[in-house]
Amino acid sequence: VRARVMEVTESPDVSYEDIGGLEEQMQEVRETVEMPLEKPEMFDDVGIDPPSGVLLYGPPGTGKTMLAKAVANQTDATFIKMAGSELVHKFIGEGAKLVRDLFKVAREHEPAVIFIDEIDAIAAKRTESKTSGDAEVQRTMMQLLSEMDGFEERGEIRIIAATNRFDMLDRAILRPGRFDRLIEVPKPNQDGREIIFEIHTRGMNVADDVDFAELAEEAESASGADVKAVCTEAGMFAIRDDRTEIRMEDFRNAWEKVQADSDETEDVSK
Ligand code: ATP
Repeated sequence: VRARVMEVTESPDVSYEDIGGLEEQMQEVRETVEMPLEKPEMFDDVGIDPPSGVLLYGPPGTGKTMLAKAVANQTDATFIKMAGSELVHKFIGEGAKLVRDLFKVAREHEPAVIFIDEIDAIAAKRTESKTSGDAEVQRTMMQLLSEMDGFEERGEIRIIAATNRFDMLDRAILRPGRFDRLIEVPKPNQDGREIIFEIHTRGMNVADDVDFAELAEEAESASGADVKAVCTEAGMFAIRDDRTEIRMEDFRNAWEKVQADSDETEDVSK
């Protein structure tokens, strides 16, 4: 079970240079996660506790997972990822045990960065109903909080959680000593989108007529993940046309396609 829900990566292959348009967020993550791992004595000497957990919140596909991987990479920490939804939906009755396992694996791999994606799945506001599912979710969350409350003894382990649904969270997890650093990770702005286009076309054979500033303007609603998808799709358009150079028109067609595909997924989920 453990192997199926937990992703353990000794050195994730994401670095800060791979992330576009999140300078402030990167700075904050470095301060709160990297500094305590690299210079724990600074916090001792100053006499303050480093922030326990960091919560990244914002729309899907904006780079939350990348940020967590990059900081693990930078600090030579093991990256351990678990999704909240898998914790409670896939292995009913196992949630609390999996949380215990998660911290056990982290202790075995110190220094480690624990990344809990979709934290809302285990830390949603309490509802009126007392179905067994809710009780299970509660138990899982209590286990997480109790692991986090024993933070001092845990040494070189940092916890990052992420959610797309900040409004749904139980405020109990945001109390001091828990996820007490909140970092919003928004969709990229014009500059951000331009940089993300540049990042994802680094190894691509891009024609001279391609203008990333213009593409960034046209793809105004795109997330980082959308921009990445546009770059790959643009390459596919070139290949279909039997060319090895990717033109502006390929990127435009690709953006159309990415939008159409995401409309379709929205329809399906309705
Ligand atoms: P989710 O909430 O859906 O889990 P997320 O915010 O964790 O999403 P990531 O998994 O970090 O998003 O991003 C998905 C992919 O989109 C990345 O692997 C990367 O290719 C691309 N991407 C997203 N945001 C950025 C960014 N700011 N800079 C560069 N690439 C990005």
